[in-house]
Amino acid sequence: MSPSMSTANVFCIANQKGGVGKTTTAINLAAALAAMRKRVLLIDLDPQGNATMGSGVDKNQAEKNLYQVLIGDTTIAEAKVRSESGGYDVLPANRELSGAEIDLIQMEDREQQLKQAINQVSDDYDFILIDCPPTLSLLTLNGLASAHGVIIPMQCEYFALEGLSDLVNTIKRVHRNINPDLQLIGLLRVMFDTRVTLQQQVSAQIETHFGDKVFKTVIPRNVRLAEAPSHGLPGIVYDKNSRGAKAYVEFGDELIKRIKKEALRQQARPRI
Ligand code: ATP
Ligand code: MG
Repeated sequence: MSPSMSTANVFCIANQKGGVGKTTTAINLAAALAAMRKRVLLIDLDPQGNATMGSGVDKNQAEKNLYQVLIGDTTIAEAKVRSESGGYDVLPANRELSGAEIDLIQMEDREQQLKQAINQVSDDYDFILIDCPPTLSLLTLNGLASAHGVIIPMQCEYFALEGLSDLVNTIKRVHRNINPDLQLIGLLRVMFDTRVTLQQQVSAQIETHFGDKVFKTVIPRNVRLAEAPSHGLPGIVYDKNSRGAKAYVEFGDELIKRIKKEALRQQARPRI
């Protein structure tokens, strides 16, 4: 690998709308990339701790977690836990993390704490994925300040595009003021049901609006993906032959191809 490729691609999985498939995407993308022999760290930036639990790591048993990293008590290298089922590392989170907002407010560089922690380990990984909470909070801001790109999972529903403009504006603002590296990597259509005409219409609308920023891969609504977290397994491990699992593996492929293509296009900024 060339020296410029030795540091990780850092991607946020974000959408301030709740329950749209962020965590499912983060877990399954992490596992799909790990299955391609990429070194992956999944950072759980949500006090709900769903990405932690869904990776087979008990959020309340983990010795250290992201909260302690953000307040500077420990490092990612010390706090990370292995997801044996997924084949990647997890930086766990639990309810404690909701207190971080208050601690961060009093800090200088309050939106840069995660980035500083990531910088210390970014040579150890090919990909660092950040599962964001359903808010545009200081936590999410720390995620966006750390990342090279944002992946937005979305359901093809009537109001989907409306909510999207807030997020896209936030990304633009962060790009301008805090993190000039930040780009929109793409929109991922998830929980898709081809039988629903409205979903097909909204999907077409999204393509018209966002063009090649829309990933070709579409993740279907698939109950196996929803069952997997209760077993502490990524969907692609729980039932690798399910339609949902296959779609996430395909998405991993597409993402890697997109990154390579972008790297050729933007020689000056080779990572994304
Ligand atoms: P939050 O905003 O609360 O963090 P989220 O955006 O992370 O939510 P998920 O937790 O990934 O969303 O998904 C919400 C629910 O939908 C979960 O119960 C999950 O198992 C289910 N789900 C996600 N993707 C799919 C899918 N493709 N097919 C079926 N169910 C899915
Ligand atoms: Mg989530």
